[in-house]
Amino acid sequence: MYRFAPSPTGDMHIGNLRAAIFNYICSKQDKSGFVLRIEDTDKIRNIEGKDEEIKELLKLFGISWQYLYIQSENLNFHQKMALKLVSEKKAFACFCTEEELNQKKELAKKNNQPYRYDGTCEKLKDIDVLNCNKPFVIRLKKPQNNIGFKDLIKGNLDFKPDDIDSFVILRTDKTPTYNFACAVDDMLENITCIIRGEDHVSNTPKQEHIRKSLNYEKEIIYAHLPIILNENGVKMSKREAHSSVKWLLEYGILPDAIINYLILLGNKTPCEIFTLEEAFTWFDIKKISKSPARFDLKKLLQINREHIKRMPNAKLNEILDLNKDIAELAKFYTQESSTLVELKDKMKAIFSTKDYKDFKEECLILKENLKNFNLPQNYEDFKEELMKRTNLKGKKFFMPLRIVLTGNVHGPELSDLYIYIRPFINDLARI
Ligand code: GLU
Repeated sequence: MYRFAPSPTGDMHIGNLRAAIFNYICSKQDKSGFVLRIEDTDKIRNIEGKDEEIKELLKLFGISWQYLYIQSENLNFHQKMALKLVSEKKAFACFCTEEELNQKKELAKKNNQPYRYDGTCEKLKDIDVLNCNKPFVIRLKKPQNNIGFKDLIKGNLDFKPDDIDSFVILRTDKTPTYNFACAVDDMLENITCIIRGEDHVSNTPKQEHIRKSLNYEKEIIYAHLPIILNENGVKMSKREAHSSVKWLLEYGILPDAIINYLILLGNKTPCEIFTLEEAFTWFDIKKISKSPARFDLKKLLQINREHIKRMPNAKLNEILDLNKDIAELAKFYTQESSTLVELKDKMKAIFSTKDYKDFKEECLILKENLKNFNLPQNYEDFKEELMKRTNLKGKKFFMPLRIVLTGNVHGPELSDLYIYIRPFINDLARI
C-alpha cells in the first residue's frame, strides 16, 4: 500500500506532486492500493480550502486514490496510543517549559554541542497523566539501539539513539506531533512503501522507533527523493513561482507535460516524451538519481510543446476556445509558442482585426484580392498568383501579407505556414 500525505498548509509544489506521481505509479505497478491522507493536524498552519485544492489538482493530473483519510479524524487513536506508550513506560510526561529547554539549547550551542533532551522528566516517578493539572508534553524515550531502514534510492540507513533522542509525540494541547500522527497512521493504513522528499530522512528513524515501540512488526521500505534545485543550483523554495503547480498550470503548461517532466527529472527513462500510463510499464524508483535534480523551465517548455503537438485536435480546439478548427494551425505554431497562454494569444492575433502598421494601403489591396481568391494547394502558386493580381512586390508584398494573415510582421516562414492557414485565408481577408 502506497500513500500521498500532503499537509493543507500551502500551494502544492512540484516536489509534492513528484512524490504523489511516484507513489501512484508504484501502486499501479504493484497492483496495490493508493491512499490519500490529508495531514491536517497543524491547525495553525492549515489553510482553509487547500485540502479540496489538493484533491482537484490530483484529479487533474489523473491521480486517483482508493482510500481517503483525514488525519485529524484519527486524533483519538493518536492520544490512546501515546497513553499506551506512557503506561508501558516507553514514553513519559515532560514538564520542562519552553524557557528551560531554550536555555539548555543555548548552552549546548555555546559549547558547540548538538542539543539533546537531558532526561530531566524521564526520572520523575508515577505521574498520573490523566489527572494532571500542570501542562506537559509526552516524549517517547530514545531507543536503546540503532534504528535502520531500507531506502530504495539511498541504500540502507542507520541512526544512533542519540540522533533520534527522546522526542515529543503529544503536545501540551494533546495533539500529536507530525512524526507521531504520521507513524501511527502509516501503521493503521497498512502502508508498505513510503516515497517522499529527502527532507524527511531525519524523521524516518523517529517514525520507525514509534512503530517499533507500538510493537508493529511489518517492514516499511522507503524511497527518499533528492531535493529539487532551482536554475541557480539552490534548493527550490516554496515561494518561487515555478515551484507552484498552480502557477505552472496558469502559465499554460499541460498537466501531461508537467507529469512527463517530473518523471524525467533526475531519472533514466527509455524515451523523453511519454504519458503517465506509459511510465507504468518501465518506471523504476531505484533508478532515480541520488543527487539533487535541477529544475529547468526551458526543458519543461520543450516537453510542453511536444505534448501540445500530440494532443487530440478536438481537445486542443476546446482549450483554445475560438470556436474554430484551428488545432493543426496551433500545433504548427508551437515552433514559436511553448505555452497554451502564448498559443491562445497567437491564435487570437490571427483572428482579430489587425494593426496595419506602415502598410495600410498594401494590406487593403491584399485583403480585397484574398476575399474570393481560389486558393491553390501550394504556396509558390499562391504567391505568384497574388503578386500578379495585386502588383505588389518584395517588402511591400511580404510584410503586409504577413500582417493580413497573422497580425504580426515576424513569425514562421510563410511558405511553411501556408498549408495550415490556407483554410482560413478567405475569412481572414474579411476581418
Ligand atoms: N505532511 C507531510 C508533508 O507534506 C508528509 C510527509 C510524508 O510523506 O510523510 O511534508
